[in-house]
Amino acid sequence: EAKKGGKNRYAYYSAGNDSGSIKQLDIENNMRQAVASECDEFIVFYQPVVDAVTRECVSCEALIRWNSKALGFMAPGEFIPLAEYLGLITSIGDFILEEACRQCKDWNEHGFPDFRININLSVVQLMQKDVVDNVKKILDRTGVNPHNIVLEITESFAINDMERVMNIVKGLRRLGPKIALDDFGTGYSSLNYIKQLPLDIIKVDKTFIDDIVDDDYAKAFVKLIVELSKTIGTKICVEGVESREQYEVLSQIGVDYIQGYYFGKPVPVGEFAHRNLRRDAQ
Ligand code: C2E
Ligand code: MG
Ligand code: MG
Ligand code: MG
Repeated sequence: EAKKGGKNRYAYYSAGNDSGSIKQLDIENNMRQAVASECDEFIVFYQPVVDAVTRECVSCEALIRWNSKALGFMAPGEFIPLAEYLGLITSIGDFILEEACRQCKDWNEHGFPDFRININLSVVQLMQKDVVDNVKKILDRTGVNPHNIVLEITESFAINDMERVMNIVKGLRRLGPKIALDDFGTGYSSLNYIKQLPLDIIKVDKTFIDDIVDDDYAKAFVKLIVELSKTIGTKICVEGVESREQYEVLSQIGVDYIQGYYFGKPVPVGEFAHRNLRRDAQ
């Protein structure tokens, strides 16, 4: 039933049986409720991004969780696709953006003036016709230094009408934030996107990093992207670094930034600050 209007964008429904559908309806109702009550069940976790040379934590990625009273704790993979399908992602996305901007401003004003926060934008958010104005409003309202905000977009957005995509990305970048291309190497990677789009950072997907120590292809791929990035003037961040061996290979290759469990998992704000932003670590 629920599949009708969905054009298979929403994977849960295609796998659904009767009990599955009831469960999804339950999630849907609870999500509507959670959004209606000012998103107060949604929480932002933060994961460190470190400079590959100094190992200093220079940034973090804001990653949403849903702590539902009725359904328990949920990771984004369990509810973002439904939120996109239902159109609720725009409200949830605004909430995350505002929350992360306020947090960034707070850290910037309390001892970490250059610290940045990365925020994910869903393709559904990006395709809203007022997305640039909307982001501007939130930047203005929070008073954050927009240069310390990094907006993460994915290739699934870049495959849309290139002219429209270019206008949106340029519009966002003109407001001050840096633009990162997330999950690079998965999906419809075209080297053309990274040539055309005004990108500040390319985030190489974890799937390439998993095998980086043993697999010559994965190593060659990351080397190639690092080489290319020097020519086009973007920084390279690698995702999903879990071991010292991976870190050593990647720092030798010359990536700029590293994100992964090796340097820290996503954690609530207090724990993040305690681990990564202690004054004595300045
Ligand atoms: P992403 O933007 O690529 O975020 C990185 C994901 O990789 C996060 O999963 C993070 O916890 C995970 N990760 C990082 N390092 C490691 C590692 O060393 N090992 C392993 N196994 N995993 C690692 P998470 O938090 O579950 O988020 C999954 C995806 O959900 C994100 O992928 C992003 O696409 C989406 N997402 C998360 N928060 C938001 C949000 O606020 N808005 C939107 N639109 N999407 C979000
Ligand atoms: Mg991301
Ligand atoms: Mg990613
Ligand atoms: Mg990902």
